[in-house]
Amino acid sequence: MEKKYVYFFNEGDASMRNLLGGKGSNLAEMTKIGIPVPQGFIVTTEACNKYYDDGKTITDEVTGQIYKQLVELEKVTGKQFGGLENPLLVSVRSGARASMPGMMDTILNLGLNDETVEAMIRLTGNERFAYDSYRRFIQMFSDVVMEIDKKNFEALIDKMKEERGVKLDTDLTADDLKELVGQFKEYYKKEKGEDFPSDPKKQLIESILAVFRSWDNPRAVVYRRLNDIPASWGTAVNVQEMVFGNKGETSGTGVAFSRNPSTGEHKIFAEYLMNAQGEDVVAGIRTPEPIEKLNEEMPEIYKEFMDIVHKLENHYKDMQDMEFTIEEGKLYFLQTRNGKRTAQAALKIAVDLVEEKMLTKEEAILKVEPKQLDTLLHPAFDIKDLEDNTPIAKGLPASPGAACGKITFTAKEAKERHEKGEKVVLVRLETSPEDIEGMIAAEGILTVRGGMTSHAAVVARGMGTCCVAGCGELKVDEAKKKLTVGGKVYTGDDYISIDGSTGNIYGTSIKTVDPEISGHFETFMAWADDVRKLKVRANADTPGDAAQAVTFGAEGIGLCRTEHMFFAEDRIAAVREMIVSKNEVQRRKALAKILPMQKEDFVGLYEVMEGKPTTIRLLDPPLHEFLPTHEDEIRALAKDMELEYEELKSTIESLHEVNPMMGHRGCRLAVSYPEIAEMQATAIIEAAIEVKERKGFDIVPEIMIPLVGEIKELKYVKDIITTTADKIIKEKGVELKYLVGTMIEIPRAALTADEIAKEAEFFSFGTNDLTQMTFGFSRDDAGNFLKDYYEKKVYESDPFAKLDQTGVGQLIEIATEKGRKTRPDIKLGICGEHGGDPSSVEFCHNVGLNYVSCSPFRVPLARLAAAQAQVKNKR
Ligand code: PEP
Ligand code: MG
Repeated sequence: MEKKYVYFFNEGDASMRNLLGGKGSNLAEMTKIGIPVPQGFIVTTEACNKYYDDGKTITDEVTGQIYKQLVELEKVTGKQFGGLENPLLVSVRSGARASMPGMMDTILNLGLNDETVEAMIRLTGNERFAYDSYRRFIQMFSDVVMEIDKKNFEALIDKMKEERGVKLDTDLTADDLKELVGQFKEYYKKEKGEDFPSDPKKQLIESILAVFRSWDNPRAVVYRRLNDIPASWGTAVNVQEMVFGNKGETSGTGVAFSRNPSTGEHKIFAEYLMNAQGEDVVAGIRTPEPIEKLNEEMPEIYKEFMDIVHKLENHYKDMQDMEFTIEEGKLYFLQTRNGKRTAQAALKIAVDLVEEKMLTKEEAILKVEPKQLDTLLHPAFDIKDLEDNTPIAKGLPASPGAACGKITFTAKEAKERHEKGEKVVLVRLETSPEDIEGMIAAEGILTVRGGMTSHAAVVARGMGTCCVAGCGELKVDEAKKKLTVGGKVYTGDDYISIDGSTGNIYGTSIKTVDPEISGHFETFMAWADDVRKLKVRANADTPGDAAQAVTFGAEGIGLCRTEHMFFAEDRIAAVREMIVSKNEVQRRKALAKILPMQKEDFVGLYEVMEGKPTTIRLLDPPLHEFLPTHEDEIRALAKDMELEYEELKSTIESLHEVNPMMGHRGCRLAVSYPEIAEMQATAIIEAAIEVKERKGFDIVPEIMIPLVGEIKELKYVKDIITTTADKIIKEKGVELKYLVGTMIEIPRAALTADEIAKEAEFFSFGTNDLTQMTFGFSRDDAGNFLKDYYEKKVYESDPFAKLDQTGVGQLIEIATEKGRKTRPDIKLGICGEHGGDPSSVEFCHNVGLNYVSCSPFRVPLARLAAAQAQVKNKR
């Protein structure tokens, strides 16, 4: 039997969303429950995929089915497509499984040509309306299908208005519009070298093909990547009978939300315009009326309208966003969908729907997008102020929020200007640990290089500071303090505004507004916490970050990167001294200076965490990252250490590595210099004993060894830790349980996890490094070329942001299974950036990890994603 590629509205329902798209399945469902819907048919998402599979062509099989449904539509409407008596006009709209507002294209009034337009005039007695519809159609068809920019047509309209001495489109007469139609067709012929297609069937097929093509336009591709929509879904195409809101004073059109989409208020929010077409409402040429006015003008229609809105909301059990048209006193609904809403509105609506008994708590949990919660916790641009601005460039949305300030090119300057009370944005080629104080001082951080797990991105997310990373369009000259983009030069006196949620960069000052968290947040998150099985911890390095994480609901610390504490002004000298030491004696001397500070760090952490699990990782990065690069700093250090400048300089040079990310870092440092691990273990254990005794918290330190790939290196480092820890515990005569575990971030560790688990009491998947090592590309450099991969559709998403479940995920599954086989009660978590990405959190739930750990500001998002994973896939 022939496969079915085209469905009439009465052949489908809401359950067929994947095949018919969101809009199509809703039109089918509305038809089924008796809502007045202009009839039509849906070309399926499978037809779209087939179009691509067949090398971007449509087969006779599919066109045949389209023509068959067209005959059906003629029957149902009593009109003829291309007919001269009662012509059928249709709209052609895209409709993917997920709604992608404004991403794809729409064509209205299709079926008009020089003959059918005459019939429309005869039927309506309204020549102006007929020619206005015709010129709109030519314009849309040319723009969407034939890629002739609509600006060219707008220019012809403007010229005509100037010649006639009028201001508004509505001031043009029927004759003017008829003349415009002629001009439009002439322009079309000039551009395309052929006549504007007058055959409605050709118009229809070409338009359907254009919608298929629009699935892959650059806007749609970017939108899909940001919203995790796979290319394989394809879009459906909806062909629907046109009804007209511009047929005179008993016609009109409008949009409606069943609740307020900005605030969530439980009140229908709708606007309409009499004698108008949909685009007039959107274009803002005339001011729409509030729906309450319809009650005065057409009370019966108003009542019917209200009844339908209630019926649709009750039916879909969610806030609906609808379009409606009144044609000569008859009301039609053209579409409905679950309405987009702000994060605040989403929470209020979810809580209200449970209180109104429309939803269960579990159903309500699925109604809020986890990523939306992010926007709740960060400043955003003032919408009014943003309106008049266009971005000058776009980078990666590395850490959400909005920031505005004057440009600074060095961390030092950022700190100084901030201290003088200036708001600054730090603009760098890339950031390094040295920049930390400037990063703290800045309102936002912008980098030219680096991806979603670059230093700038990870640190900014940790601090909750807005960051746009990897914007290669910018030319930054740090020495001359100049930023060039789009031919314009910006200096330290200029403002820049950046949006870390979209990656947009603006060359002006844009106001920001602080977030407001409502009571609904607490109520809703409590429901999520009741449901979820996966624990949520935070990556936090300082007591301040840890406290922030706990307020956001973190149940522990999954990763404390101890090296982040080493850059503070009062300790960097001792750290540098330790690194350039010539022998163990010198190194121990320097480590002795660091020990009390490191212990103080952990005391602070344990106090904040009050006995919640806290994983502290031993030193991880390549040591040379801590060393000075400028001559004056090297001279100062040489003086402190009583060394010759040249000697120190050559020691520093000897520490240089060609590929430091795969060099002397992680547990390899402890293998070479066991005294470093000894000092850190001492600090961790002594701090735990002190806080436990003083405050009575039940502290079980979790000591984590990074970058392990071989059981023997793990054992070597573990022995240092246990010898040190056991000695202290014995000397102090106290009881203290502690755990020693490892990061799994080298593929070899994942593959040999059964062996590794003999020594490791817990695993934490470091998916930043694991992704880097599995793909074999650098997390710092990949940003530069991954954009080519998206463009060429080799990858759909950034594997450093969204876990690659097929490859990296497989390693996690293998390690989970092997680890549990050796040690059934082994504790498993993830602490790479993926721990704060909703789809990756769902994966972690399904694999059966015990917890995810992410930056403090993402903790609420992870709590919700974990709850949704439980509701969707009870494990
Ligand atoms: C990781 O590799 O995933 C990780 C958490 O460690 P880092 O980002 O510090 O290398
Ligand atoms: Mg790592």
